[in-house]
Amino acid sequence: MAQAPGRAASAVRLFDAHCHLQDPRIAAAAPTIIRAATASGVARFAVNGTSEKDWHLVKQMAQEHPSVVPCFGLHPWWVPERSPDWMDSLRRFFSETPEAAVGEIGLDKGSHGKTIDFGEQVEVFQRQLELAKELEKPVSVHCVRAFGDLLEILKQSGPFPAGVLLHSYMGSAEMVISLANLGCYFSLSGFLTGLKSTKAKQILQAIPLDKILLETDAPDALPKMDDVSLSTVLVDSSGADGYKCHRDANSQAATSSNESLNHPANIHIVLKFVASLLEMPETTLAEMSYKNAIQLFSYPGSKVHPEAETV
Ligand SMILES: [Zn+2]
Repeated sequence: MAQAPGRAASAVRLFDAHCHLQDPRIAAAAPTIIRAATASGVARFAVNGTSEKDWHLVKQMAQEHPSVVPCFGLHPWWVPERSPDWMDSLRRFFSETPEAAVGEIGLDKGSHGKTIDFGEQVEVFQRQLELAKELEKPVSVHCVRAFGDLLEILKQSGPFPAGVLLHSYMGSAEMVISLANLGCYFSLSGFLTGLKSTKAKQILQAIPLDKILLETDAPDALPKMDDVSLSTVLVDSSGADGYKCHRDANSQAATSSNESLNHPANIHIVLKFVASLLEMPETTLAEMSYKNAIQLFSYPGSKVHPEAETV
């Protein structure tokens, strides 16, 4: 099978600690996407639901694909659309799907998050954090411009022995230790490539090595890098989905009106970027982050078992 040169890295095994393969923009292509990413060395995908509307899709995807770890949660952007009995529904999903983790939940004061009542965001976030603690499951957390609030809330309701995954971590280097002491893991995505490399390096160097995870957040967070072979999912207005490799995202945008969406195989780009800033061999970072993800996702009831993963 033909592979892009960069993909000879299929010797490495990776765990996409946070993505959304159930997203309506790519759901129809998910089996193809999962196959391609698996061939490139991505052994597992933590697929995060975002609202009552997509939890059943995540559940179904996890039933169809042994490599998919399901996560159910109400994302802050969808807080205003929640039904009065969203919490009962969420609990029902966990009782029917004991292998699930919690996520994506969180706090957002960014450009879109600002339009959503922050008091309500906090209430919904806290209830789900409590649920994760009660069920002894790890929880995947989204935080945009609200790290002060996040730290306060985690301190009040923590520590979290089952672990908190701070998805697409872009908080300060200074906060890392307090967050790590509460049970946080730091999951790094393609968004990091948009930071100044000195800033990104500072953050990375503050993270304890046993708390580093890698993710794609696909179909979002397409890495911004020149001279690398990015995989994208192309979705055109006719609804036809496809999988394609090309030289860079900018030329794609220039030559087509199709939307370029991130592909979980791009976790190799995140690996390369993070390894270079940490001045660490890619294989070392791959092994380490994989081991960390196995540690976090091997809670009681999970599909992930540490014994089965050591080869
Ligand atoms: Zn996400």
